[in-house]
Amino acid sequence: MGLVGSSPTSSANLLNMENKKTFACAINCMDGRVQDAVKLYMQKNYSVDYVDMITEPGPNKILCDEQECDMAVIEDIKKRVGISVHHHGSKNLAVVGHFGCAGNPAGKEEQIEQLKKCKKVIDSFRFPVEVVMLWVEGDWQTVELIK
Ligand SMILES: [Zn+2]
Repeated sequence: MGLVGSSPTSSANLLNMENKKTFACAINCMDGRVQDAVKLYMQKNYSVDYVDMITEPGPNKILCDEQECDMAVIEDIKKRVGISVHHHGSKNLAVVGHFGCAGNPAGKEEQIEQLKKCKKVIDSFRFPVEVVMLWVEGDWQTVELIK
């Protein structure tokens, strides 16, 4: 039916398809139990194809800890957010806390306070992204948007 001449598998078309893919970004815990939940939440709520994952153990503790603040790690997180924003065009970024975090032993309430501090730190990077705060429950599926 004349489809041979317009094969969608030509390299030019593939490149074109790749260029149309959309991305969001998440500063997530390295914990394997929360990867799918955060990815699915971002894909569903921001209509993106892919989610760039920036993972650390308990990132909400790392980004907000004024006493034990590790500037090298924070700079590295910032660099990776920059790649997601500038190279993939991410417009939405999540910072994540979760139940039972090995890297951040604080309870939910305290972690939410930490997330709010993190949002301020991330906003201070001045990337053109909207930052949302997420909490993942211990069923590893329920994701709560923190207001
Ligand atoms: Zn964790």
